[in-house]
Amino acid sequence: MAQLSESKAPPLVTIVGRRGSAAAYTIRDFLHRCDIPFAWVEVTTDEESRSQAGVADLHDSRLPLCVFPDGTRLECPTIQQITEKLGWFRNPLHTEYDLAIYGAGPAGLSAAVYGASEGLKTVLIERYALGGQASSSPKIENYLGFPAGISGAELAERAREQAERFGAEILLAREGARVEYSPGQVAGYLADGAKIVAHATICATGVDYRRLGLPNEEQFLGAGLYYGAGASEAPLTQGEDVTIVGGGNSAAQAALHFAAYARRVTMVVRDDSLSSTVSQYLIDRIYATANVEVLTQTEVIALDGDELLQEITLIDRQTGQERRARTHWLFVCIGGVPRTQWATEVGMVCDGGGYLVTGPDLLRDGQRPANWPLDREPYYMETNFPGIFAAGDVRHGSVKRCASAVGEGAMAVTFVHRYLADG
Ligand SMILES: Cc1cc2nc3c(=O)[nH]c(=O)nc-3n(C[C@H](O)[C@H](O)[C@H](O)COP(=O)(O)OP(=O)(O)OC[C@H]3O[C@@H](n4cnc5c(N)ncnc54)[C@H](O)[C@@H]3O)c2cc1C
Repeated sequence: MAQLSESKAPPLVTIVGRRGSAAAYTIRDFLHRCDIPFAWVEVTTDEESRSQAGVADLHDSRLPLCVFPDGTRLECPTIQQITEKLGWFRNPLHTEYDLAIYGAGPAGLSAAVYGASEGLKTVLIERYALGGQASSSPKIENYLGFPAGISGAELAERAREQAERFGAEILLAREGARVEYSPGQVAGYLADGAKIVAHATICATGVDYRRLGLPNEEQFLGAGLYYGAGASEAPLTQGEDVTIVGGGNSAAQAALHFAAYARRVTMVVRDDSLSSTVSQYLIDRIYATANVEVLTQTEVIALDGDELLQEITLIDRQTGQERRARTHWLFVCIGGVPRTQWATEVGMVCDGGGYLVTGPDLLRDGQRPANWPLDREPYYMETNFPGIFAAGDVRHGSVKRCASAVGEGAMAVTFVHRYLADG
Protein backbone atom coordinates (compact mmCIF):
# COMPACT_ATOMS: atom_id res chain seq x y z
CA MET A 1 0.00 0.00 0.00
CA ALA A 2 1.37 3.42 -0.96
CA GLN A 3 0.30 6.67 0.67
CA LEU A 4 0.88 10.06 -0.80
CA SER A 5 0.07 13.58 0.20
CA GLU A 6 1.76 16.30 -1.84
CA SER A 7 0.57 19.23 0.23
CA LYS A 8 1.77 20.15 3.69
CA ALA A 9 -1.75 21.23 4.61
CA PRO A 10 -4.00 18.54 6.15
CA PRO A 11 -5.91 16.72 3.40
CA LEU A 12 -9.51 17.81 2.80
CA VAL A 13 -10.13 14.53 0.98
CA THR A 14 -8.49 11.10 1.31
CA ILE A 15 -8.91 9.00 -1.82
CA VAL A 16 -8.51 5.24 -1.53
CA GLY A 17 -8.21 3.35 -4.78
CA ARG A 18 -6.17 1.08 -6.96
CA ARG A 19 -3.49 1.94 -9.45
CA GLY A 20 -4.69 2.50 -12.98
CA SER A 21 -8.18 3.54 -11.89
CA ALA A 22 -9.39 6.19 -14.35
CA ALA A 23 -12.02 7.37 -11.84
CA ALA A 24 -9.36 7.89 -9.17
CA TYR A 25 -7.22 9.83 -11.65
CA THR A 26 -10.14 12.15 -12.51
CA ILE A 27 -10.68 12.89 -8.81
CA ARG A 28 -6.96 13.53 -8.15
CA ASP A 29 -6.77 15.73 -11.25
CA PHE A 30 -9.85 17.73 -10.25
CA LEU A 31 -8.69 18.27 -6.65
CA HIS A 32 -5.20 19.21 -7.77
CA ARG A 33 -6.56 21.76 -10.24
CA CYS A 34 -8.78 23.20 -7.51
CA ASP A 35 -5.77 23.52 -5.21
CA ILE A 36 -7.45 21.29 -2.62
CA PRO A 37 -5.04 19.28 -0.43
CA PHE A 38 -5.74 15.56 -0.75
CA ALA A 39 -4.12 12.29 0.24
CA TRP A 40 -3.96 9.30 -2.09
CA VAL A 41 -3.92 5.81 -0.57
CA GLU A 42 -3.14 3.20 -3.20
CA VAL A 43 -4.36 -0.28 -2.33
CA THR A 44 -2.72 -3.20 -4.10
CA THR A 45 -4.43 -6.31 -2.59
CA ASP A 46 -7.92 -7.47 -1.62
CA GLU A 47 -6.82 -7.45 2.01
CA GLU A 48 -5.70 -3.80 1.81
CA SER A 49 -8.97 -2.89 0.09
CA ARG A 50 -10.90 -4.44 2.99
CA SER A 51 -8.81 -2.83 5.72
CA GLN A 52 -8.42 0.63 4.12
CA ALA A 53 -11.78 1.06 2.40
CA GLY A 54 -14.05 -1.57 3.91
CA VAL A 55 -14.89 -2.96 0.46
CA ALA A 56 -14.90 -6.60 -0.66
CA ASP A 57 -11.83 -6.65 -2.88
CA LEU A 58 -9.50 -4.67 -5.12
CA HIS A 59 -12.01 -4.60 -7.97
CA ASP A 60 -15.02 -3.59 -5.88
CA SER A 61 -17.06 -1.02 -7.85
CA ARG A 62 -17.29 1.17 -4.74
CA LEU A 63 -13.64 2.14 -5.26
CA PRO A 64 -12.28 4.76 -5.39
CA LEU A 65 -13.57 5.87 -2.04
CA CYS A 66 -13.34 9.50 -0.90
CA VAL A 67 -13.24 10.13 2.84
CA PHE A 68 -13.75 13.65 4.23
CA PRO A 69 -12.58 15.02 7.60
CA ASP A 70 -16.14 14.80 9.03
CA GLY A 71 -16.15 11.07 8.30
CA THR A 72 -18.35 11.26 5.17
CA ARG A 73 -17.55 8.46 2.71
CA LEU A 74 -18.39 8.89 -0.97
CA GLU A 75 -18.12 5.68 -2.99
CA CYS A 76 -16.86 6.13 -6.55
CA PRO A 77 -18.22 9.71 -6.57
CA THR A 78 -18.75 11.95 -9.57
CA ILE A 79 -17.08 15.36 -9.71
CA GLN A 80 -20.49 16.92 -9.09
CA GLN A 81 -20.92 14.88 -5.89
CA ILE A 82 -17.50 16.04 -4.71
CA THR A 83 -18.28 19.69 -5.43
CA GLU A 84 -21.58 19.25 -3.59
CA LYS A 85 -19.77 17.82 -0.57
CA LEU A 86 -17.25 20.68 -0.64
CA GLY A 87 -20.16 23.13 -0.71
CA TRP A 88 -19.20 24.38 -4.17
CA PHE A 89 -22.12 23.13 -6.18
CA ARG A 90 -24.71 25.87 -6.54
CA ASN A 91 -27.79 26.76 -8.47
CA PRO A 92 -27.99 30.19 -10.14
CA LEU A 93 -29.04 32.86 -7.64
CA HIS A 94 -30.79 35.05 -10.22
CA THR A 95 -33.16 34.54 -13.10
CA GLU A 96 -31.34 37.11 -15.23
CA TYR A 97 -27.77 38.44 -15.42
CA ASP A 98 -26.04 41.34 -17.16
CA LEU A 99 -23.20 39.05 -18.17
CA ALA A 100 -22.85 35.28 -18.44
CA ILE A 101 -19.37 33.88 -19.03
CA TYR A 102 -18.83 30.30 -20.16
CA GLY A 103 -15.49 28.74 -19.21
CA ALA A 104 -13.42 29.56 -16.12
CA GLY A 105 -9.95 29.41 -17.59
CA PRO A 106 -7.74 32.51 -17.42
CA ALA A 107 -9.95 34.37 -19.94
CA GLY A 108 -13.24 33.60 -18.17
CA LEU A 109 -11.86 34.29 -14.70
CA SER A 110 -10.45 37.59 -15.86
CA ALA A 111 -13.78 38.55 -17.48
CA ALA A 112 -15.53 37.66 -14.21
CA VAL A 113 -13.17 39.86 -12.17
CA TYR A 114 -13.60 42.83 -14.52
CA GLY A 115 -17.33 42.31 -15.10
CA ALA A 116 -18.19 42.02 -11.41
CA SER A 117 -15.80 44.77 -10.31
CA GLU A 118 -17.42 47.13 -12.83
CA GLY A 119 -20.88 46.55 -11.45
CA LEU A 120 -22.25 43.95 -13.87
CA LYS A 121 -24.37 41.19 -12.40
CA THR A 122 -22.03 38.42 -13.51
CA VAL A 123 -22.21 34.64 -13.57
CA LEU A 124 -19.32 32.36 -14.55
CA ILE A 125 -20.14 28.81 -15.64
CA GLU A 126 -17.45 26.11 -15.68
CA ARG A 127 -17.99 22.52 -16.72
CA TYR A 128 -15.05 21.07 -14.74
CA ALA A 129 -12.42 22.80 -12.61
CA LEU A 130 -11.27 26.40 -12.38
CA GLY A 131 -8.24 27.54 -14.34
CA GLY A 132 -8.76 25.61 -17.58
CA GLN A 133 -5.55 24.47 -19.25
CA ALA A 134 -3.53 26.73 -16.98
CA SER A 135 -4.59 24.80 -13.88
CA SER A 136 -2.78 21.74 -15.24
CA SER A 137 0.48 23.65 -15.48
CA PRO A 138 2.87 22.81 -12.65
CA LYS A 139 4.55 26.18 -12.93
CA ILE A 140 3.78 29.23 -15.05
CA GLU A 141 6.92 31.31 -15.16
CA ASN A 142 6.14 33.93 -17.77
CA TYR A 143 3.05 35.45 -16.18
CA LEU A 144 3.65 39.04 -15.15
CA GLY A 145 4.19 39.64 -11.46
CA PHE A 146 5.34 36.18 -10.42
CA PRO A 147 9.11 36.17 -10.92
CA ALA A 148 9.53 32.78 -9.25
CA GLY A 149 6.57 31.32 -11.17
CA ILE A 150 3.24 30.17 -9.82
CA SER A 151 1.34 26.92 -10.24
CA GLY A 152 -1.66 27.26 -12.54
CA ALA A 153 -3.91 25.88 -9.81
CA GLU A 154 -2.81 28.56 -7.35
CA LEU A 155 -3.20 31.30 -9.94
CA ALA A 156 -6.75 30.10 -10.66
CA GLU A 157 -7.62 29.88 -6.97
CA ARG A 158 -6.43 33.46 -6.43
CA ALA A 159 -8.52 34.59 -9.40
CA ARG A 160 -11.57 32.77 -8.03
CA GLU A 161 -11.21 34.56 -4.69
CA GLN A 162 -10.82 37.89 -6.48
CA ALA A 163 -13.85 37.34 -8.73
CA GLU A 164 -16.04 36.24 -5.81
CA ARG A 165 -14.85 39.17 -3.69
CA PHE A 166 -16.26 41.48 -6.37
CA GLY A 167 -19.54 39.56 -6.35
CA ALA A 168 -19.23 37.24 -9.37
CA GLU A 169 -21.26 34.07 -9.02
CA ILE A 170 -19.38 30.91 -9.99
CA LEU A 171 -21.18 27.72 -11.02
CA LEU A 172 -18.78 24.77 -11.08
CA ALA A 173 -19.28 21.36 -12.65
CA ARG A 174 -21.97 22.84 -14.93
CA GLU A 175 -21.61 22.69 -18.67
CA GLY A 176 -23.08 25.11 -21.20
CA ALA A 177 -24.79 22.96 -23.83
CA ARG A 178 -26.64 25.28 -26.22
CA VAL A 179 -27.78 28.87 -26.71
CA GLU A 180 -30.97 30.50 -27.82
CA TYR A 181 -30.45 33.99 -29.18
CA SER A 182 -32.85 36.86 -29.33
CA PRO A 183 -31.78 40.50 -29.73
CA GLY A 184 -30.72 41.89 -26.36
CA GLN A 185 -30.85 38.55 -24.61
CA VAL A 186 -29.16 35.17 -24.72
CA ALA A 187 -30.55 32.09 -23.00
CA GLY A 188 -27.85 29.55 -22.24
CA TYR A 189 -29.00 26.02 -21.45
CA LEU A 190 -26.73 23.93 -19.25
CA ALA A 191 -26.30 20.21 -19.76
CA ASP A 192 -28.34 19.57 -16.58
CA GLY A 193 -31.26 21.59 -17.96
CA ALA A 194 -30.70 24.81 -15.98
CA LYS A 195 -31.30 28.03 -17.94
CA ILE A 196 -29.14 31.15 -17.66
CA VAL A 197 -30.52 34.34 -19.19
CA ALA A 198 -28.11 37.22 -19.76
CA HIS A 199 -27.99 40.48 -21.71
CA ALA A 200 -24.44 39.80 -22.85
CA THR A 201 -22.37 36.62 -23.04
CA ILE A 202 -18.66 35.88 -23.24
CA CYS A 203 -17.60 32.53 -24.59
CA ALA A 204 -14.25 31.66 -23.01
CA THR A 205 -14.38 27.92 -23.46
CA GLY A 206 -10.78 27.52 -24.61
CA VAL A 207 -9.68 24.27 -26.20
CA ASP A 208 -9.79 20.57 -25.38
CA TYR A 209 -6.72 18.39 -25.59
CA ARG A 210 -5.95 17.07 -29.05
CA ARG A 211 -5.99 13.26 -29.09
CA LEU A 212 -3.28 10.98 -30.43
CA GLY A 213 -5.83 9.25 -32.63
CA LEU A 214 -4.74 5.70 -31.76
CA PRO A 215 -7.40 2.97 -31.83
CA ASN A 216 -7.26 1.88 -28.18
CA GLU A 217 -6.81 5.25 -26.46
CA GLU A 218 -10.10 4.97 -24.54
CA GLN A 219 -8.93 1.71 -22.93
CA PHE A 220 -5.93 3.39 -21.30
CA LEU A 221 -7.37 6.83 -20.54
CA GLY A 222 -6.54 7.51 -16.89
CA ALA A 223 -4.84 4.11 -16.72
CA GLY A 224 -1.44 4.99 -18.10
CA LEU A 225 -2.49 7.50 -20.78
CA TYR A 226 -3.14 11.05 -19.65
CA TYR A 227 -3.92 14.24 -21.52
CA GLY A 228 -2.21 17.39 -20.29
CA ALA A 229 0.71 18.00 -18.03
CA GLY A 230 -0.55 15.62 -15.34
CA ALA A 231 0.61 17.80 -12.47
CA SER A 232 -1.40 15.72 -9.97
CA GLU A 233 0.39 12.52 -11.02
CA ALA A 234 4.04 13.58 -10.84
CA PRO A 235 4.69 12.43 -7.25
CA LEU A 236 3.31 8.98 -8.16
CA THR A 237 5.98 8.45 -10.81
CA GLN A 238 8.83 8.20 -8.30
CA GLY A 239 11.60 6.02 -9.76
CA GLU A 240 9.60 5.14 -12.92
CA ASP A 241 9.91 5.94 -16.63
CA VAL A 242 7.67 8.66 -18.01
CA THR A 243 7.00 9.52 -21.65
CA ILE A 244 5.67 12.89 -22.74
CA VAL A 245 4.36 13.43 -26.24
CA GLY A 246 4.63 16.97 -27.57
CA GLY A 247 7.14 19.58 -28.52
CA GLY A 248 5.57 22.74 -27.12
CA ASN A 249 5.97 24.74 -23.94
CA SER A 250 3.41 22.68 -22.04
CA ALA A 251 5.22 19.41 -22.86
CA ALA A 252 8.56 20.94 -21.89
CA GLN A 253 7.15 22.21 -18.59
CA ALA A 254 5.71 18.79 -17.88
CA ALA A 255 9.05 17.08 -18.66
CA LEU A 256 10.89 19.28 -16.19
CA HIS A 257 8.26 18.76 -13.53
CA PHE A 258 8.32 14.96 -13.89
CA ALA A 259 12.13 14.92 -13.95
CA ALA A 260 12.11 15.84 -10.25
CA TYR A 261 10.32 12.54 -9.45
CA ALA A 262 10.72 10.02 -12.26
CA ARG A 263 13.80 7.90 -13.01
CA ARG A 264 13.78 8.95 -16.63
CA VAL A 265 11.62 11.27 -18.75
CA THR A 266 11.46 10.91 -22.53
CA MET A 267 10.01 13.69 -24.67
CA VAL A 268 8.64 12.39 -27.97
CA VAL A 269 8.63 15.21 -30.53
CA ARG A 270 7.43 15.06 -34.16
CA ASP A 271 9.58 17.97 -35.38
CA ASP A 272 13.33 17.90 -35.79
CA SER A 273 14.02 20.23 -32.84
CA LEU A 274 12.41 22.07 -29.98
CA SER A 275 13.70 25.44 -31.03
CA SER A 276 10.74 26.68 -33.04
CA THR A 277 8.10 25.65 -30.53
CA VAL A 278 9.58 25.92 -27.02
CA SER A 279 10.74 29.03 -25.13
CA GLN A 280 14.52 29.25 -24.85
CA TYR A 281 14.53 29.21 -21.02
CA LEU A 282 12.77 25.83 -21.09
CA ILE A 283 15.06 24.41 -23.83
CA ASP A 284 18.12 25.37 -21.78
CA ARG A 285 16.72 23.61 -18.72
CA ILE A 286 15.66 20.52 -20.67
CA TYR A 287 19.18 19.99 -22.00
CA ALA A 288 20.70 20.68 -18.58
CA THR A 289 18.55 18.03 -16.87
CA ALA A 290 20.34 14.70 -16.88
CA ASN A 291 17.29 12.42 -16.72
CA VAL A 292 15.38 14.07 -19.59
CA GLU A 293 15.88 12.67 -23.08
CA VAL A 294 14.43 14.30 -26.23
CA LEU A 295 13.55 12.08 -29.20
CA THR A 296 12.91 14.30 -32.21
CA GLN A 297 11.30 13.15 -35.48
CA THR A 298 9.50 10.49 -33.46
CA GLU A 299 5.87 9.49 -32.92
CA VAL A 300 3.93 7.10 -30.72
CA ILE A 301 2.08 4.66 -32.97
CA ALA A 302 0.75 1.97 -30.62
CA LEU A 303 -0.32 1.42 -27.02
CA ASP A 304 -0.33 -1.99 -25.33
CA GLY A 305 -1.23 -3.27 -21.93
CA ASP A 306 -3.96 -4.88 -19.86
CA GLU A 307 -5.82 -2.94 -17.17
CA LEU A 308 -2.87 -0.54 -17.21
CA LEU A 309 -0.69 0.75 -20.02
CA GLN A 310 2.44 -1.40 -20.16
CA GLU A 311 4.20 -0.56 -23.39
CA ILE A 312 4.25 1.93 -26.25
CA THR A 313 5.64 1.66 -29.78
CA LEU A 314 7.64 4.55 -31.20
CA ILE A 315 8.53 5.18 -34.81
CA ASP A 316 11.44 7.19 -36.14
CA ARG A 317 9.81 9.33 -38.84
CA GLN A 318 13.01 9.56 -40.85
CA THR A 319 14.10 5.93 -40.92
CA GLY A 320 10.76 4.24 -40.28
CA GLN A 321 12.42 2.17 -37.59
CA GLU A 322 10.12 1.07 -34.76
CA ARG A 323 10.97 0.34 -31.17
CA ARG A 324 9.04 -0.58 -28.06
CA ALA A 325 9.39 1.12 -24.70
CA ARG A 326 7.95 0.01 -21.38
CA THR A 327 6.05 2.69 -19.46
CA HIS A 328 2.98 3.06 -17.28
CA TRP A 329 3.00 6.82 -17.71
CA LEU A 330 2.29 8.47 -21.05
CA PHE A 331 1.34 12.15 -20.98
CA VAL A 332 0.11 13.81 -24.16
CA CYS A 333 0.53 17.58 -24.61
CA ILE A 334 0.01 18.13 -28.33
CA GLY A 335 -2.13 21.23 -28.26
CA GLY A 336 -5.85 21.63 -28.37
CA VAL A 337 -8.98 21.92 -30.44
CA PRO A 338 -12.00 24.09 -29.66
CA ARG A 339 -15.33 22.40 -28.98
CA THR A 340 -17.68 24.76 -30.74
CA GLN A 341 -20.24 22.50 -32.42
CA TRP A 342 -22.95 24.35 -30.47
CA ALA A 343 -21.84 27.57 -32.19
CA THR A 344 -21.88 26.23 -35.73
CA GLU A 345 -25.32 24.73 -35.07
CA VAL A 346 -26.78 28.20 -34.44
CA GLY A 347 -24.93 29.83 -37.34
CA MET A 348 -22.05 31.45 -35.48
CA VAL A 349 -19.08 31.99 -37.75
CA CYS A 350 -16.13 29.68 -37.01
CA ASP A 351 -12.91 29.23 -38.95
CA GLY A 352 -11.78 25.91 -40.43
CA GLY A 353 -10.35 24.82 -37.07
CA GLY A 354 -13.59 25.59 -35.18
CA TYR A 355 -12.33 28.81 -33.56
CA LEU A 356 -14.91 31.59 -33.14
CA VAL A 357 -14.42 34.45 -35.59
CA THR A 358 -14.88 37.92 -34.15
CA GLY A 359 -14.74 41.64 -34.89
CA PRO A 360 -12.93 42.80 -38.03
CA ASP A 361 -12.20 39.17 -39.02
CA LEU A 362 -15.93 38.78 -39.71
CA LEU A 363 -15.85 41.30 -42.55
CA ARG A 364 -15.48 39.89 -46.07
CA ASP A 365 -14.46 42.48 -48.67
CA GLY A 366 -15.66 45.07 -46.20
CA GLN A 367 -19.11 43.42 -45.96
CA ARG A 368 -20.67 42.52 -42.62
CA PRO A 369 -21.79 38.92 -42.01
CA ALA A 370 -25.08 38.00 -43.66
CA ASN A 371 -27.01 37.61 -40.41
CA TRP A 372 -25.70 40.85 -38.87
CA PRO A 373 -28.75 42.98 -37.94
CA LEU A 374 -27.18 46.22 -36.68
CA ASP A 375 -26.15 49.44 -38.30
CA ARG A 376 -22.62 49.19 -36.93
CA GLU A 377 -19.75 46.80 -37.45
CA PRO A 378 -19.15 44.01 -34.93
CA TYR A 379 -17.02 45.17 -32.03
CA TYR A 380 -13.58 43.68 -31.71
CA MET A 381 -14.12 40.26 -30.01
CA GLU A 382 -17.83 40.28 -30.82
CA THR A 383 -19.11 37.28 -32.78
CA ASN A 384 -21.64 37.60 -35.60
CA PHE A 385 -24.34 37.50 -32.90
CA PRO A 386 -24.48 40.99 -31.32
CA GLY A 387 -23.79 40.76 -27.58
CA ILE A 388 -22.03 37.39 -27.75
CA PHE A 389 -18.28 37.83 -27.42
CA ALA A 390 -15.37 35.40 -27.50
CA ALA A 391 -12.17 35.66 -25.48
CA GLY A 392 -9.01 33.61 -25.07
CA ASP A 393 -7.92 30.44 -26.84
CA VAL A 394 -11.36 29.75 -28.37
CA ARG A 395 -11.16 32.97 -30.40
CA HIS A 396 -9.81 32.87 -33.94
CA GLY A 397 -6.43 34.56 -34.11
CA SER A 398 -5.85 34.76 -30.36
CA VAL A 399 -2.38 34.26 -28.92
CA LYS A 400 -2.44 31.02 -26.93
CA ARG A 401 -0.96 32.30 -23.70
CA CYS A 402 -2.19 32.90 -20.16
CA ALA A 403 -1.48 36.61 -20.19
CA SER A 404 -3.22 37.05 -23.56
CA ALA A 405 -6.28 35.14 -22.34
CA VAL A 406 -6.41 37.28 -19.20
CA GLY A 407 -6.05 40.41 -21.34
CA GLU A 408 -8.80 39.28 -23.70
CA GLY A 409 -11.15 38.50 -20.82
CA ALA A 410 -10.69 42.03 -19.49
CA MET A 411 -10.99 43.59 -22.93
CA ALA A 412 -14.16 41.69 -23.77
CA VAL A 413 -15.84 43.28 -20.74
CA THR A 414 -15.09 46.73 -22.15
CA PHE A 415 -16.96 45.80 -25.34
CA VAL A 416 -19.79 44.31 -23.26
CA HIS A 417 -20.21 47.75 -21.66
CA ARG A 418 -20.34 49.38 -25.10
CA TYR A 419 -22.88 46.85 -26.30
CA LEU A 420 -25.08 47.33 -23.22
CA ALA A 421 -24.81 51.12 -23.55
CA ASP A 422 -26.06 50.87 -27.18
CA GLY A 423 -29.34 49.69 -25.64
C1 LIG B 1 0.12 22.21 -19.47
C2 LIG B 1 -0.01 23.62 -19.96
C3 LIG B 1 0.93 24.56 -19.57
C4 LIG B 1 0.83 25.87 -20.01
N1 LIG B 1 1.76 26.78 -19.59
C5 LIG B 1 1.68 28.06 -19.98
C6 LIG B 1 2.63 29.02 -19.53
O1 LIG B 1 3.56 28.70 -18.79
N2 LIG B 1 2.47 30.31 -19.94
C7 LIG B 1 1.46 30.71 -20.76
O2 LIG B 1 1.36 31.89 -21.06
N3 LIG B 1 0.55 29.81 -21.20
C8 LIG B 1 0.63 28.51 -20.85
N4 LIG B 1 -0.28 27.59 -21.32
C9 LIG B 1 -1.36 28.05 -22.20
C10 LIG B 1 -2.47 28.70 -21.38
O3 LIG B 1 -2.76 27.91 -20.25
C11 LIG B 1 -3.72 28.89 -22.25
O4 LIG B 1 -3.39 29.72 -23.33
C12 LIG B 1 -4.85 29.51 -21.42
O5 LIG B 1 -5.22 28.64 -20.37
C13 LIG B 1 -6.07 29.79 -22.29
O6 LIG B 1 -7.06 30.28 -21.45
P1 LIG B 1 -8.61 30.26 -21.85
O7 LIG B 1 -9.33 30.79 -20.65
O8 LIG B 1 -8.80 30.94 -23.14
O9 LIG B 1 -8.97 28.74 -22.12
P2 LIG B 1 -8.79 27.43 -21.24
O10 LIG B 1 -7.65 27.55 -20.32
O11 LIG B 1 -8.79 26.32 -22.23
O12 LIG B 1 -10.10 27.37 -20.35
C14 LIG B 1 -11.36 27.10 -20.91
C15 LIG B 1 -12.30 26.63 -19.82
O13 LIG B 1 -13.61 26.50 -20.36
C16 LIG B 1 -14.23 25.35 -19.83
N5 LIG B 1 -15.30 24.95 -20.75
C17 LIG B 1 -15.17 24.42 -22.00
N6 LIG B 1 -16.39 24.21 -22.53
C18 LIG B 1 -17.30 24.60 -21.61
C19 LIG B 1 -18.72 24.63 -21.59
N7 LIG B 1 -19.44 24.21 -22.62
N8 LIG B 1 -19.34 25.10 -20.47
C20 LIG B 1 -18.62 25.54 -19.41
N9 LIG B 1 -17.27 25.53 -19.38
C21 LIG B 1 -16.61 25.08 -20.47
C22 LIG B 1 -13.09 24.33 -19.75
O14 LIG B 1 -13.38 23.29 -18.85
C23 LIG B 1 -11.94 25.24 -19.28
O15 LIG B 1 -11.88 25.30 -17.86
C24 LIG B 1 -0.21 26.26 -20.90
C25 LIG B 1 -1.15 25.31 -21.32
C26 LIG B 1 -1.04 23.99 -20.86
C27 LIG B 1 -2.05 22.97 -21.32
